[in-house]
Amino acid sequence: MTIFRTPHRPAGAIHEDVDHTARQTNEPPSTPRTLSLRGVHVRYDDGFEAVHGVDLDVAPGEIVVLLGASGSGKSSLLRGIAGLEAVTQGSVNVGGVDVTRMPTFKRGIGMVFQDGQLFPYRNVGGNIAYGIAHMRRPQRQERVNALLRLIDLPGYADRDVSTLSGGQAQRVALARSLAPNPPVLLLDEPLSALDAILREDLSLQLRRIVTSAGVAAVYVTHDQAEAFRVADRVGIMHEGMIIDIGTRSELVNSAHSIVRQFLRAANPDDASVS
Ligand code: ADP
Ligand code: MG
Repeated sequence: MTIFRTPHRPAGAIHEDVDHTARQTNEPPSTPRTLSLRGVHVRYDDGFEAVHGVDLDVAPGEIVVLLGASGSGKSSLLRGIAGLEAVTQGSVNVGGVDVTRMPTFKRGIGMVFQDGQLFPYRNVGGNIAYGIAHMRRPQRQERVNALLRLIDLPGYADRDVSTLSGGQAQRVALARSLAPNPPVLLLDEPLSALDAILREDLSLQLRRIVTSAGVAAVYVTHDQAEAFRVADRVGIMHEGMIIDIGTRSELVNSAHSIVRQFLRAANPDDASVS
């Protein structure tokens, strides 16, 4: 059975309609892999403003992790960047193009969520190939195989997704979002559903994969150890703002007492965080 046939969509299977991760434009390789946010606000219909004026620049191949307590606005910011929520003020720029008013699928942004949301009626290869249906079959097959090697699952193309472990499923979700070669990748708590031992290994693996893809990545977590394992820079998110951003050693000496307290709260025995 070929894995790349346009799939029949079973009645009631709404996943492809609600999935926002994969059907991206295939950005030409010349698109600079950068993300710039200027004064981004996200206000919900009920009037609640979850993001108040975020500025951020992410360089090609860089992973910025947004670390913050639950409710600090991390997911709202990612959803604004992706166009899943309206940015009510400010701008989002991908590869030098202002995408603030563009629909999600035109932004050149890949997304990975906590639950990878693989399509259950497609095998592994079919999931990864989802966003590259326009490619000719040999190139598409080559791209899928290259991505399977990248995520350390060579030979898994024909596997049913129900046979994958949680960690394998998240790596397939990552490969699917990277397949169209997006300049920007957003990951919202991609390891939160997995157990702690697995998370440590996988966070390093994710870092290797994302870095080698050369994308500008924003990775959200509430887990401090994971944040510093994955990040080039960590932005501390608090009440809808990035209140400081930097490396671990920069942040432990932050001018903001909230940042110092936040790091200390998660590391009560760490004398360097004082
Ligand atoms: P985080 O991802 O950091 O946990 P969220 O971005 O999910 O935070 O939420 C930030 C704030 O926005 C929370 O107070 C949350 O209740 C609120 N919020 C999230 N989604 C909506 C929504 N659709 N409508 C109104 N408020 C929302
Ligand atoms: Mg969230």
